[in-house]
Amino acid sequence: MKTLGVIGGMSWESSLEYYRILNQATQRALGGLHSCPVILYSVDFAEIETWQHQGDWQRLADRMITAAQSLERAGAAGLIIATNTMHKLAPAVQAAVAIPLLHIADATADRIQAQGLQTVALLGTRFTMEEDFYRGRLTQRHGLQVRVPDARDRATVHRIIYDELCQGVINPASRSAYRTIMAKLVAAGATGIILGCTEIELLVQPEDTPVPLFPTTRIHAEAAVRWALGEAG
Ligand code: GLU
Repeated sequence: MKTLGVIGGMSWESSLEYYRILNQATQRALGGLHSCPVILYSVDFAEIETWQHQGDWQRLADRMITAAQSLERAGAAGLIIATNTMHKLAPAVQAAVAIPLLHIADATADRIQAQGLQTVALLGTRFTMEEDFYRGRLTQRHGLQVRVPDARDRATVHRIIYDELCQGVINPASRSAYRTIMAKLVAAGATGIILGCTEIELLVQPEDTPVPLFPTTRIHAEAAVRWALGEAG
């Protein structure tokens, strides 16, 4: 099995889930005492969050590239960035290393298409919902139709991610807010919902909406294990 390099800590709450799922998926596939060979490069999220909100993406790119190159030198055969938002920098990171970057949006689109769905909603940070790096990949590369909440709901989704979920706070009132937002998206035609921020699946569960959920931490980690086992691209 190949060794995975994980750029994590964004936030560490979801990196813990990645670690758990990488190991559980490996154990399911190989049995016995098998676990996933992983090298984790975990950053200080306070710096990352500050630079994101200042729009200092050059500094963020430098930090991600340093992490990726360290993981490559340490022996990782493939890389995952354990956050949707920081995939804004995926092209720069991929260009800086020789090992493949396993993109979270590709894994998610594959899972959506395997279920035969075409029109999905996307919840995530404002960066992920509003910019083209993620939605554009889903629509242009994978041919999906992607809806996002309205501006007010996007602000709510974004605030709950940074003020609560990334700090380990699971608030029932926020689950209700997400349920309401998801109901509006379903009423507007979404046949599935991408939990396009790696902490949302800590808050939202399948029973919170009648349509299928696509939890990106689980999907990305399981796809990475299949790749490491040589079962996928
Ligand atoms: N984990 C989140 C995501 O998947 C947000 C944290 C970040 O800004 O990287 O987008």
